[in-house]
Order: sequence, then structure tokens, then C-alpha cells
Amino acid sequence: MSTNTNFLLAIEDLTVSFDGFKAIEGLNFYVDSNELRVVIGPNGAGKTTLLDLICGKTKATDGSIKFKNKELTKLPEHRIVWEGVGRKFQTPSVYEALTVYENLEVSYPKGKSVFGSLFFKNTAEVDGKIREIAESIFLTDLLDRPADELSHGQKQWLEIGMLLIQDPELLMLDEPVAGMSVSEREKTAELLNRISKGRSVIVIEHDMDFVKEIASKVTVMHQGNVLAEGDMETVQSDPRVIEVYLGH
Ligand code: ADP
Ligand code: MG
Repeated sequence: MSTNTNFLLAIEDLTVSFDGFKAIEGLNFYVDSNELRVVIGPNGAGKTTLLDLICGKTKATDGSIKFKNKELTKLPEHRIVWEGVGRKFQTPSVYEALTVYENLEVSYPKGKSVFGSLFFKNTAEVDGKIREIAESIFLTDLLDRPADELSHGQKQWLEIGMLLIQDPELLMLDEPVAGMSVSEREKTAELLNRISKGRSVIVIEHDMDFVKEIASKVTVMHQGNVLAEGDMETVQSDPRVIEVYLGH
């Protein structure tokens, strides 16, 4: 198969077996630079496992995951982050006792100062970046509030901000709008459309109205593999997709 591609992410023949059960089997999946890809599919299809494999939380049994032509399957999680892959889990994990500002500050990448974190904290550069990110995630007015005062949706945005401040080339989000209000969903769609201009984003999502607002290309997973792929209209009218997913 292809060994040198222009894809940001190229996954080929990926398989993971949990005690003989293949949660992902022979999967091929390609993502372009600056692409916003939505992954849908019934519960148990293997969507979360796919993200676990890309970020190194789960190790592949077989196959290849190339990010910028570099093989990720043998790298530890922290190296994959360092290569430019950010991943948000389903439940928000922010530091509840810290303010919004402090949550973003502790997420600022440490390796960027020659002096180490102790000496560069609160420099104008870091402060500027924190404010820029806060603006983009709709939290400028709440910078000084402890995170535990935020709504569920605002915590989700904060966690996205904590990833954005590390400037990943690939950002992966697992069901980011679950539990959000209608207006929070609309703002999240706007946010995702905006942040995918400068990076690639993979979003797992269930809410089809939300998917319609953001999706350019949709991958439908079923039983650990890709069932269908294409624009929303194409996959929505695919009889196999209707059978296993949309029909229910
Ligand atoms: P989805 O996110 O699409 O709902 P998952 O990726 O969470 O699906 O799960 C896919 C399948 O793999 C499920 O049958 C799940 O029970 C199984 N699975 C996921 N992780 C593990 C694990 N660590 N050990 C055993 N089985 C797992
Ligand atoms: Mg899942």
C-alpha cells in the first residue's frame, strides 16, 4: 500500500484485538490537512477505540498509523502529543479549583522557553496567547472564575482551549456537544468550523443536526471498520448506513 502520502493522517490495515475480540479490524482511514472530519456510527462501532489508537492510549495489534509520514503505533502517548496530536476525552477534565486563566496557563506548552517554566510564566507572550484562546472559546468574561463555576458546556470549551493552546496539528474530540444546550451547540459548531481552518479536526458525534452544521466529510463506522464515507448527503442516503445506524 502507499508508503509516502500527502495525508496528514494515514491509517492502514489497523487492527486491535482485546482478548480475541477485534474492536477495530483492517481499518483504512485518511485525513487531509485542515480537514474537519466527523465520525459517526452506532454504539460499540469502535469510534472511541480508533481515537485511543491514534493517541497511543491503546496499542495496535496490527497495521499502521502515519502522522506526517511518521509511524505512531510504536510511540508512547507523550511523544504523540509532542508530534502534534491533541485528544479530548468524552468527560471534561479541567482543574476545578483553578480559574479559567490558570487552566489555560498550566496547559501552555512548557518546552517553548529555554529557561523552563519557572522563568517564563506570565510573560506577555503567554498572557497574550491565553487571552486569544479565551476569546475563541467564548470565555473572556470568565477568565478569573474558578472552573467549577462553569456550566458543563463551558467546561467542554475550556478543555478544547487547553488543547488549542498547545497548537496541535490534529485535534480529536469525542462527543464534544453531549450535554450541551442548543445555543452552546451552535457556538461549538462555529468554534469547530473556525479552528479547523488552521489544523485538522476529527470529531466523533451522535447529534445529526450538529453533524450537518459542521461536516464536510463523514466517516460511518460499523463493527470496527468503515461502512461508508463521503459528504453528509451521500452517507445519509446509503442503504447500509440507514440499515445499521440512521434507521434506528
Ligand atoms: P464506540 O465509541 O463506537 O461506541 P468503542 O470504541 O468504545 O465504541 O468500543 C468498541 C468495542 O470495543 C465495544 O464492543 C467495546 O466493548 C470494546 N472495547 C473497547 N475498549 C475495550 C477494552 N479496553 N477492552 C475490551 N473491550 C473493549
Ligand atoms: Mg465512544
